[in-house]
Amino acid sequence: MVDRPFLQSQRYADQQKRAKLEGAHPDIVEFVRVLPKRMAKHGVPMFASEVWRSDERQNQLFEQGFSKARAGQGPHPFGCAADLVHGVRGWNLNRDQWRLVGHIGQELVTQKGLNLVWGGNWPDFYDPAHWQVADWKVQAADFPFPRIEKWERNWKKRLEAALAQQATLAAK
Ligand SMILES: [Zn+2]
Repeated sequence: MVDRPFLQSQRYADQQKRAKLEGAHPDIVEFVRVLPKRMAKHGVPMFASEVWRSDERQNQLFEQGFSKARAGQGPHPFGCAADLVHGVRGWNLNRDQWRLVGHIGQELVTQKGLNLVWGGNWPDFYDPAHWQVADWKVQAADFPFPRIEKWERNWKKRLEAALAQQATLAAK
């Protein structure tokens, strides 16, 4: 699954811009930004193939058995889910490889304090490319979501750092 030359390719760069994120849940936007970056450090090209989904495509996936949801159902139409796949192999990773993606992804979820769950943990519908907001049915009421910039997300950390710096200066 490691493919360092592909990480340098134009196709990889284009893949990173594939998913439309406007109106998506801020945790999804953040995850789609950080997971491919973290995987790239391990030499693995990943990208978000889908956040949004049209009604037509949702029905198509339902008919094909790839999704439990019909049009207008499930977290995707509310920007509360993302499917992250391999840049070259797409969904064609084996269980161990997906487990690695899931492990790294869940580590990021914890580190960043994101409220996301991984579809690879579902025994009844194994969906390892899929990540969704844990309580999306509640969160979906706020759809569409305003875009939260990275600096806004980190404001608390910055404020704490600034206050600590002030305290250090005051102590001198
Ligand atoms: Zn999905």
